[in-house]
Amino acid sequence: MPAASIASTMDETTPLENMLAQMERAQEYAQVDPGIFERLKYPERTLKVTLPVRMDDGSVEVFTGYRCQFDSARGPYKGGIRYHPSVTMEEVTALAGWMTWKTALVDLPYGGAKGGVICEVKEMSTDELRRMTRRYTEGIRRMIGPHMDVPAPDMNTNPEVMAWIMDTYSMYEGYSIPQVVTGKPLSLGGTPGRVEATGRGVAMITRKVFDYLEEDLHEATIAIQGFGNVGNWAARLLVEMGANVVAVSDVTGARYDPDGLDLGSLLAFSEGGGTMEGYPDAEFISNEALLELDVDVLIPAAVADVITTDNVDDVRASVIVEAANGPTTTSADDALIERDVPVVPDILANAGGVIVSYLEWVQNTQEYSWTLSQVNADLERRLTGSFDEVVDAYHRHETPDLRTAAYTIALRRVATAHELRGLFP
Ligand code: GLU
Repeated sequence: MPAASIASTMDETTPLENMLAQMERAQEYAQVDPGIFERLKYPERTLKVTLPVRMDDGSVEVFTGYRCQFDSARGPYKGGIRYHPSVTMEEVTALAGWMTWKTALVDLPYGGAKGGVICEVKEMSTDELRRMTRRYTEGIRRMIGPHMDVPAPDMNTNPEVMAWIMDTYSMYEGYSIPQVVTGKPLSLGGTPGRVEATGRGVAMITRKVFDYLEEDLHEATIAIQGFGNVGNWAARLLVEMGANVVAVSDVTGARYDPDGLDLGSLLAFSEGGGTMEGYPDAEFISNEALLELDVDVLIPAAVADVITTDNVDDVRASVIVEAANGPTTTSADDALIERDVPVVPDILANAGGVIVSYLEWVQNTQEYSWTLSQVNADLERRLTGSFDEVVDAYHRHETPDLRTAAYTIALRRVATAHELRGLFP
């Protein structure tokens, strides 16, 4: 089944349109200077690179990659690099914008960026991926740097890919510069806790929203769409917290057991290369059906635009925690606001990844290292503190939802930085 089957392509708005609508809605409450607001609708720059790569069979394949730097008023650009067949310049722009709001919301001294290469990782060998990554790094190397723009993993990229980027960049500079990327392997200056950080943050924020709603997470039923790095760590940690993960999916479909899945066996099966379709236990359902399960929490942890006007009326979860970037379209958001379904927005729910990236970068910059418990404690303090700020803004400004409250905080922080710096020249 193609990867695209997990996404709905029927909806009327794109990720970039959704992001702009989210900003417009928050501007009603944030009331930032209209000139600055206008500026914040556009990225500072986007580079498109053409990447000829020698494939294992001797042929040359030409890939296209992007790096979008959305805003840097608060510090160096920061954001991941994704490898996916559906990458477009527009999607990378939306994702770079979301990074800007995310880093501002959780108050990291960063701006926002995102990169992507159009490719199908599953069809490439490790050597081909390494050559493509090195060529992409060469293509964007003039715009990245430890104090300029710091990439990190995103969909289908991992510590190994970060090591190749760090090596390529360092070879050109003539000395090792680990802090040019985060999400590196531990032996190259990576931090303990980075691989699981986004999933851990999703689990922490789910526990926090349950405390806020005065509900018990213990035995709460949870459906997770996506079993990649984020979904699978969120599942493990939520089970550790006592929750009941009843459904998980990958691109081939979902497995559902109303009494709770045997996560250990699912993880072992998927680590051995198995897919949901091939998994022998629990009921096999579609990704679409997973989104419509009657559960306490729905965690979309895959691609953008999966909760749309087409299916929002059938989404029955009591709470939605957005582990993916941009899983809910604006019109679906309207319907959820109408029905009073709390949505923990992506820029808060999945900020654990970039928070721990920041902690990695700080350690590299100081040439010092922290323990896993120091990293996790700092992550929890920042994430739960940001949740409290969002809830406070939600009540104080009487915003329609948590997303608008989060954007109100983020917009004000970014706009204040622009105001203080003034307009150049
Ligand atoms: N790709 C992740 C995100 O979307 C992490 C970015 C980073 O660590 O810089 O937040």
